[in-house]
This record gives sequence, C-alpha cells and structure tokens, in this order.
Amino acid sequence: MYGLGVLKGMGVTLKHFVETYIEDLKYLGKGKRSVEAFTVRQGLRGKSLGLFTVEYPEEKIAVPERFRFVPFLVINNLDDPDLPGADWCTSCGICAKVCPPQCIWIVRGTDPETGRPKPAPEAFYIDIDICMNCGYCAEFCPFDAIKMDHDYELASYDRIGEHIFDKKKLSKEFRYYRSLYPTLSAEEAEARGGWEHKDVLKAKAKAEKAQSAGAPAQPGR
Ligand code: SF4
Ligand code: SF4
Repeated sequence: MYGLGVLKGMGVTLKHFVETYIEDLKYLGKGKRSVEAFTVRQGLRGKSLGLFTVEYPEEKIAVPERFRFVPFLVINNLDDPDLPGADWCTSCGICAKVCPPQCIWIVRGTDPETGRPKPAPEAFYIDIDICMNCGYCAEFCPFDAIKMDHDYELASYDRIGEHIFDKKKLSKEFRYYRSLYPTLSAEEAEARGGWEHKDVLKAKAKAEKAQSAGAPAQPGR
C-alpha cells in the first residue's frame, strides 16, 4: 500500500518517543543524569530505550574498547623497576610500510658508542590530519608497540604545531594502554608470556635457562 513505509517509520519514531518518557520515569527519584542513569542510558550496553541526549562537551558518551582514533606509542611505565619509560617500538618500520596514506615517519636510533643502528626510534612522527584511523599500524606491529587512542578531541587551528605528533606527544605509558584496552592487553600479555616489556621477558627467560642448565640433575630424572 502506498505510504505504508512512511507509517511504519512514524510508528518507530512514536515508539522511541513514548519509551523516552517511560525511561525518564524509571530514573525519576535517582536523577535523570545520575551516574547510574547515564551509564545505562547512553546506549553502549544494549539496555537503553527511547532517546537520551548528552550535553557535549560537558558530558561525553563513553566509547567501546575497540574504538579507534589516532595511534599512540606504548612505552614502559615511568615507574617501572626494570626499564622505566622504555620504548616498545623497535623502529622496524612495518607500520610505516603498511600505512595506506603514508603518514608515519620514523628515524631509527643509533648507538652513540658504536655508531650502529639500535632497535629504538630516535624520532617518530604521525601526521594526524592525514591519518585515516584505519588501525593497520596497530594490527601489523609485531611488538604491540603502537595502539589506537580513544582521544578524539584533537581539533586545533595550528596545523603544523599541533597536528604533526612527534615521539614525545605520541608516547604513552603502558598503564594507559591497559586502562583503554583491558581485554585486548590481557590477551596480548598472555600470548607474549607476561605483562612486562619484551626485553625484560627475554632477560627473565635467559636467567631461567641459565639457572636450569647450572642446576644439579634431579635424582630419578
Ligand atoms: S610501532 Fe611497531 S611496527 Fe611501527 S616501527 Fe615500531 S615496532 Fe615497528
Ligand atoms: S591508523 Fe592507518 S592511517 Fe593512521 S597511522 Fe595507522 S596505518 Fe596510518
């Protein structure tokens, strides 16, 4: 029938309209914008009904764990007992190669004593106006060293000064990554063999190997 689609659409709108007031009544005593109401009604847990708007920028809708905006570099926590602030990036260059718009620029570090290249970036730049937030760099990094950030409020009038992120601006502590990605970071730690930096894990594995090699043979084995 002609116009049936229009009627159906209006029915959906009416349903949302009515549900909005029913939901409002549910949170009447608790405050429409109480933490409880806000958490449920902002619509990320599949429990929300009706319409619920937030007053951005004072209020923000929480983003899901898999949300991605521009990348950041993971560094060890600054209070880490073994390697405080160490880069996880080895400057292998894979992320720069796979980046579709080619907005990553890396300068490999050099050992000042030997003059040989070292597995750490001396400089790392990402042009965040060119970045298309695809997440390929994070997907392809073999060292879990580059991840997608949740911070989307990056607008500025200063194109060069503010939108070409250098290593300092890109680097964020491992605890920040864990707080953004509790599930993914746990999966990665399990695959890696621990929460620590790969160099610490390597050193531990080496020490364990040396200890077991030097240990006296167990009787009966
Ligand atoms: S972020 Fe990862 S992929 Fe990119 S250079 Fe560093 S280690 Fe390699
Ligand atoms: S998210 Fe995509 S476009 Fe942005 S730096 Fe990574 S690979 Fe490049």
